[in-house]
Amino acid sequence: MNKLDTALVGSALKAAGFELTGSVKEADAVLINTCSVREHAEQRVFSHLGHLKHIKESRPALVVGVIGCMAQRLGKQLLEDKTVDIVCGPGQIPQIVTLVREALDGNKKTLSITEKIRQKPDEDNTLDDFESAYGIEDKEIPGQAFIRVMRGCDKFCSYCVVPYVRGAEVSRQPKVIIEQIKKLAGNGVKQVTLLGQRVNAYRYTTGEKTYCLADLLSMASDIKGIEWIRFVTSYPSKEFFDEILEAMATLSKVCNYLHLPAQSGSDKILHAMNRGYTCSEYLELLDRARAAAAGIAIAGDFIVGFPGETKEDFQATVDLVKKARYKNCFIFKYSPRPGTNADEKLKDNVPAEIKRKRNIELLDVQNEISEKLSRQSLKKTVRVLVEGLSKKPHLNQAGSENKPQLVGRTTADYIVVFNGPKALAGQFAEVKIKRTSALTLFGELSH
Ligand code: SAM
Ligand code: SF4
Repeated sequence: MNKLDTALVGSALKAAGFELTGSVKEADAVLINTCSVREHAEQRVFSHLGHLKHIKESRPALVVGVIGCMAQRLGKQLLEDKTVDIVCGPGQIPQIVTLVREALDGNKKTLSITEKIRQKPDEDNTLDDFESAYGIEDKEIPGQAFIRVMRGCDKFCSYCVVPYVRGAEVSRQPKVIIEQIKKLAGNGVKQVTLLGQRVNAYRYTTGEKTYCLADLLSMASDIKGIEWIRFVTSYPSKEFFDEILEAMATLSKVCNYLHLPAQSGSDKILHAMNRGYTCSEYLELLDRARAAAAGIAIAGDFIVGFPGETKEDFQATVDLVKKARYKNCFIFKYSPRPGTNADEKLKDNVPAEIKRKRNIELLDVQNEISEKLSRQSLKKTVRVLVEGLSKKPHLNQAGSENKPQLVGRTTADYIVVFNGPKALAGQFAEVKIKRTSALTLFGELSH
């Protein structure tokens, strides 16, 4: 979501005549897009602001803006920081060009956030128009684009700040989404990723018809030029689940990957998290997914050290990870977020050291599973959408044969590393896998 917002803001500024730079030294204005999901992300923003404070001492005209969830959460408090000129919430990004221009003209200190964040927004197309106008291909990864199909979240998991900073859940009109994808396909985009906090809960009713995610997947599949379609993040719920699985099984363009966070393997903790399912109901969804879509890769999210998590609760999470056989897992230490139910009602009583140990232990369990699953790709030839040069500069130099190290992903979201011409970025390639590690497949380009 944040990457998409950054891209939208960047292309809106560019279209307005600004030039983008990655260097603070060259910049007249610095915008920091922020995340509030964990405290650590917010601390990093404060440390960036500390750095910018020094730069501003010698260049007082430098404009500093904080945009995104932290802007929405802290509002005025952020604006009180002398370094900050613009505070702009996620719902106000269509105003960003005006805000930056005004600040550069010397009209300092503007706060633009949603006053009543949980109020369902009136029918207003400003955000939609902004996304459609500036929703372009990912500049870092050629041939790929992200499309938001839903905004906000109504789920209120007890630990989570998202409903308070991204507002009420709203599904965008299917017509607008499909038009946006057609435009992207016309610009050479091959893979689209549909985004929503609970993307599988997408629901849009017009007249007699209610559209769900499976309908979007089917309509997007009909678009010429689009070859792969992904969607993240899914919520473990039965609603529309079979329809979506059927779309995955029958539509060849829909990637064989499901990100379905469980968060915990203990029913007691799941209840305290307000997740609305039990561990066995969750595992049943995984069984259904595997039965419907052969070879599907599943990824999970877990929070360790949630208030009240005992040794036994954590063991239940370890057991779930073993049963689930995820391709990979994102594991986080519980971070209390102000304003959430967990923070207000439950004591953050798992010591930091225990959270750290549980995080490492769970990662180790998952790594072993990931290694085993990766190994199944050995000697196989996989189709990869090439993203570009590997991030390791010593490996991505063009050698004598002009074959630097490239990175791509399979339909099941496996990362594949191989040597090949740089011009393959944004194209599909066939790669024979020669070696594997937990998270990466290494191979050779097939001819
Ligand atoms: N909507 C998605 C979902 O329900 O899975 C993702 C939301 S959140 C941005 C991404 C992940 O961050 C969550 O799946 C959860 O594991 C983690 N997370 C959210 N709030 C957290 C908190 N207070 N402390 C630690 N991790 C948190
Ligand atoms: Fe947060 Fe839960 Fe909504 Fe995901 S579903 S964004 S974890 S409240």
